Amino acid sequence: MADPTVFPPLEIPQTIAAGPGPGNTDPRVLQRFASAGVADHMQADVLRGMIECKKMLRQVMGTANVHTFGVAGTGWSGLDAMFNAVLPGDKVVVFANGTFSGIDGLTVRMKAATAEELTANPMDPQPASVTVVTVPHGQSVTAEIVEDALARHKPKWAAMAHWETGSGRINDLRGFSDACERYDVMGLVDAVSSLGVEDFSIDDYPGVHGWASCPQKGICCLPLTYAPVSFTDRYIQNLRATGCRSFVHHPILEARHWGIIDGKDVEKGTYHRTHSAYAVAAFHEALRITLQQTVAARASSYAFHEAALRDAVTAMGCTVTSNMTSLVVLNLPKSLAGREAELVQNCRAQGFGIWPTLSEPVQVRIGILNLLNQPAITDIVTRFGAAMAAMGAEVDMGAVNGRLENHYAAAVAAA
Ligand SMILES: *Cc1c(COP(=O)(O)O)cnc(C)c1O
Repeated sequence: MADPTVFPPLEIPQTIAAGPGPGNTDPRVLQRFASAGVADHMQADVLRGMIECKKMLRQVMGTANVHTFGVAGTGWSGLDAMFNAVLPGDKVVVFANGTFSGIDGLTVRMKAATAEELTANPMDPQPASVTVVTVPHGQSVTAEIVEDALARHKPKWAAMAHWETGSGRINDLRGFSDACERYDVMGLVDAVSSLGVEDFSIDDYPGVHGWASCPQKGICCLPLTYAPVSFTDRYIQNLRATGCRSFVHHPILEARHWGIIDGKDVEKGTYHRTHSAYAVAAFHEALRITLQQTVAARASSYAFHEAALRDAVTAMGCTVTSNMTSLVVLNLPKSLAGREAELVQNCRAQGFGIWPTLSEPVQVRIGILNLLNQPAITDIVTRFGAAMAAMGAEVDMGAVNGRLENHYAAAVAAA
């Protein structure tokens, strides 16, 4: 007989999500999520909400691409849809400089592998048609690296992460797009970490034909909702000609439910799969918040608060190696070197959700997604300093707090 236990209701505590993601969900998003009525996926307001989301998403992404919509699920769901246009035997160059672009590379290798190549190494295929250009952890993908590789290989596709969250590095999107244009390559970009954090318009990068992001980082919509994607007409024409081996993550088919049919906006969507009224309402509110605050204002707020955090941890003796504005990736001072995992574990045990890096070398990652105010940053700095002190580091919290207060006082004075 099966174990008859009914477990008690699941209680999950409030923690400080101070990692690379997920970000802290805005209360307004949770409010919309919880107050949506039960309505099926073809009910008029659900369909209208999806059309409105699509239109707001185009503004957030800065695009006139008709094929701009959300793929139900997480960042990988959107990336899977984007990479679905890559078929067995396709020539691809992937730039990898950390955990996530590494997984993008694996995804591409799985899709570009021929049947024989996949059977030869099912979990980690090494297709002859895919070149992975590996850039060391802690470094960015530069225009020169992209230029060299595309000139040499002349692939059909090239893929890169815009912001590599594993090491906290910003890659050269301009250089990538320009090189793609020069060699007539279709660029595919993982914009999971940058969308809603950096102020950029995807239409300014014409070498890039596919974009995929996520709900839970810069868009601050963790209640499992939609991974934003956008595709140019050229990407869609290519896909129309080749087809792909997926129904649910087919960029042309999936777009139908968002009211995008035969390359045009139509008044309401047609069935593709069951969408949740709760998810649509939450995503809709997250996009409204982003547009009300504006992407530009958010971007400058991230830069400002990241600078405060960077300065504070540097004053504690840490060395910051990242250049993203939503995340600080650091090495601990020499006296604590090698104890990164232990420090992170101690913090996490107290509901302070920072992260280690997931690939070597082990570093500490502290994120500020949707934690854009002085009390939140001060709380992070205070907790981090206390965790370092508890492990024996000498931290002058008085001096650190003084610097933090100056940073914020200077901004008030300037304003
Ligand atoms: C977080 C992240 C992903 C994966 O997103 P999920 O929402 O966990 O599926 C992929 N790429 C990058 C660059 C990321 O930061």
